[in-house]
Amino acid sequence: MSENKQIVGGSGDPREDAINALFAGSVEDSMTITDLPSKGKFYDGFNGVEIKALTFLDEQTILTAKDNNKDIVAKLLEKCIEGVDVGDLLSMDKLYLLMKVRELSYGKDYSFNIICPNCNADIKSSLVLSEHLNMNPVPDDMEDPREVQLPRLKVTAKVRFPRGREESFLSSSEEVYKNLYRFVVSINDNSDPVFISKALKRMHIQDIKTLIAGVNETEYGVDPKFLFECPECRHTDTMAIPMDVGFFSVS
Ligand SMILES: [Zn+2]
Repeated sequence: MSENKQIVGGSGDPREDAINALFAGSVEDSMTITDLPSKGKFYDGFNGVEIKALTFLDEQTILTAKDNNKDIVAKLLEKCIEGVDVGDLLSMDKLYLLMKVRELSYGKDYSFNIICPNCNADIKSSLVLSEHLNMNPVPDDMEDPREVQLPRLKVTAKVRFPRGREESFLSSSEEVYKNLYRFVVSINDNSDPVFISKALKRMHIQDIKTLIAGVNETEYGVDPKFLFECPECRHTDTMAIPMDVGFFSVS
């Protein structure tokens, strides 16, 4: 029996073929990510996220819209990722994917200016995001919703992670307080939303802060902090790079 030969399809259009030949050897502009900070534990049927590099047109859309559209990060990710609904994304994964899309689009070096907090010198810095920033994945036994112990009331509450589509509820500390009830699944096994709202209003600040910390779980995901040493005055400080659309306005 003769083996079937694989035929590299030509389109029949010499111009198309020439274009395809031109890009055949170019660096890959997509990749699959399986090592999300959340490990994909909280997405149904998670099987990795495919990310694509931004096109020049995507970048222009972002740069022109970034001042007047808070949802631009979500829009950007919708263009560049596949395999998980952007509205479902936990913010730790969102930032991580944003960082990966940036690397894929502009390369690994991230350059930025930093003002030394000691001598005010304007220092041009650069780092390799995925090497110089730490990423803390959630532990394997992390659940959503999960339990937190309220130190004042001495009862157990259950909280859940905010999803991408719920980010506007957390845009300021005022909004966080106003919308905290949405992310508290139960208090002392009572899951009645009216009960939860009323309980939150009477709660001691220490219990409220425990709930907020439990909802956010900010210790997981990409840590934007890095150690800065000023070449002018030798001052060292822990600084953080902005993990937002600002990522894409510098190149
Ligand atoms: Zn300095």
